[in-house]
Amino acid sequence: MVKVSVSKKKCIGCKACVEVCDNFKMVGDKSEPIDKNPKEVGCNEKAAKECPTSAITVK
Ligand code: SF4
Repeated sequence: MVKVSVSKKKCIGCKACVEVCDNFKMVGDKSEPIDKNPKEVGCNEKAAKECPTSAITVK
């Protein structure tokens, strides 16, 4: 199982992850994974790579 998380401390609300992956949504000025335990890595890894502050962890 994949575990996706966003560090609220590190997230600057740039929306880059939301643009490249539909598993992220903005809640106020922070991003959150919609499905925190997806079966497949899918676009989550791309979102993690795109994040300028390395706020997204995918493992
Ligand atoms: S790409 Fe990173 S900093 Fe930007 S909204 Fe997503 S989690 Fe936050």
